Amino acid sequence: MSELEVIALVTGASRGIGRAIAIELAGNKAYTVIGTATTAQGADSIGTYLAEVKAKGEGLVVDVASDDSVTGLINTIKEKYGAPAVLVNNAGITRDNLLMRMQSEEWSAVIDTNLGSMYRVCKACVRGMTKARWGRIINISSVVAFSGNAGQTNYAASKAGIEGFTRALAVEIGSRGITVNALAPGFIDTDMTRGLGEKQAQYRLAQIPLARFGQPQEIASVVGFLASKNAAYITGETIHVNGGMYMA
Ligand code: NAP
Repeated sequence: MSELEVIALVTGASRGIGRAIAIELAGNKAYTVIGTATTAQGADSIGTYLAEVKAKGEGLVVDVASDDSVTGLINTIKEKYGAPAVLVNNAGITRDNLLMRMQSEEWSAVIDTNLGSMYRVCKACVRGMTKARWGRIINISSVVAFSGNAGQTNYAASKAGIEGFTRALAVEIGSRGITVNALAPGFIDTDMTRGLGEKQAQYRLAQIPLARFGQPQEIASVVGFLASKNAAYITGETIHVNGGMYMA
């Protein structure tokens, strides 16, 4: 596949890590970048920042927990731009609670959004990549898939599921020139972690050898590497970006 015609799809690009990833990929002028949000307002904001960095592409709305919504999104992208060859599965949520108090909806929402989305979005994109005999899939996991975390059985299970999913798919489609990798961030300064109380934040900070939370750009630059030619021989791997809080 020529680098001149790469369509890159980043889910959850309205803010936080996904926004930084979309801007990073947009730095490669060969890419057309489609970022997604759950609302029209979020999608508009993606269009605005992509225009600011003079990138090709736009923001579109999707709910990664819905089969129909994902099918609609991929059909729209294919009709307008062509099949995505770079896919960053970044959209994710938390619904923290101790297991004894966890509601069934809190469990299902997290599993369906974080892990179910891998099935939906990858499945919708793999055919196009297979035809092109080139593709890059990067799934955003989490350090807690490895370390565990109280109050996050749902979230840790969803992220650990992403790890297994990534390796199985890497084996399945490697022969088609498609790499599938996971990136496991530690604690990154976004809306997701800003919700932690001061006490939790201080406790977390004490576990990080680099003594600070990470910045979204520090995840985005590694995604940029995994999407690049330089990472052509890496597949089924997890890259940990966590300031040393967990050393695999
Ligand atoms: P964030 O700031 O809360 O942003 C979440 C993004 O996901 C938003 O763009 C949101 O869209 C989108 N989203 C949520 N539910 C969705 C749905 N059902 N369908 C489609 N999109 C949906 O999160 P973040 O901190 O940047 O995290 C991004 C990813 O990194 C997540 O997978 C998260 O689990 C992972 N991660 C984060 C950290 C961290 O410390 N921040 C650490 C490890 C892993 P709207 O704006 O429209 O709501």
